Amino acid sequence: MRFAVLGSGSQGNGTLIASGNTLLLVDCGFSLRETERRLALLGVSAAQLSAVLVTHEHADHVHGVGLLSRRYNVPVYLSRGTLRGMRKPVEAAGFLAANDTLQLGDLSVTAVGVTHDALEPLQYVFGDGSRRFGVLTDLGSYDAALLSSYQGLDALLIEANHCRDLLGRGPYPMFLKQRVGGDYGHLNNHQAARLVSELDWQNLQHLVLAHLSSKNNQPQLARQCFVDTLGCDPDWLQVANQDSGLDWREIA
Ligand SMILES: [Zn+2]
Ligand SMILES: [Zn+2]
Repeated sequence: MRFAVLGSGSQGNGTLIASGNTLLLVDCGFSLRETERRLALLGVSAAQLSAVLVTHEHADHVHGVGLLSRRYNVPVYLSRGTLRGMRKPVEAAGFLAANDTLQLGDLSVTAVGVTHDALEPLQYVFGDGSRRFGVLTDLGSYDAALLSSYQGLDALLIEANHCRDLLGRGPYPMFLKQRVGGDYGHLNNHQAARLVSELDWQNLQHLVLAHLSSKNNQPQLARQCFVDTLGCDPDWLQVANQDSGLDWREIA
């Protein structure tokens, strides 16, 4: 199994997961043209996509989903709540709810419910029969049930959205600071690092920090927070950024 990131942050998100002949895209927050460009940089085309899985209805996750799915005939899977929340609805190939599992070609998908200011947000864990990869962004808090869904992974992409101090001092109006920093907002660096510390993270081949805020975070702050919390090698940590995402990573 391998994965790559088209881009990550409030301007657009997209993550590719591939195994055998199966190629899945989680979210498509870029325009169709930009999605095509970013896919090409990663050596694939939209025509190869087996399916798109949507996490929730925020624009940075759904902007290009409708056009992409219609232009290339790609089936879309999402929760009923997410479909209800989308400004421009798409045709759903199937609905997912928390704890559902779906087999798409060579990959299994497990949907995990999260706390976020969306109607029915889901995050996903993928398996190819021997390895498991988890995607976890856009959540403001977590509990024991969420931790158990993300135990025993071989690779994890996790949101480190903001630095609590930068958010507090930053340019956002108070209501937005409260929303971003609240239980239905986004994980800050400390929360994300603590979450990972509660997993058996030593077995991870890849730990990717994602969905970093351009205004309220800095890659080196996020990295340092994880290094301080986990005691891990700073060079082992990876960051998926907004402009160039992350090149293919193999999960051996
Ligand atoms: Zn987002
Ligand atoms: Zn969101």
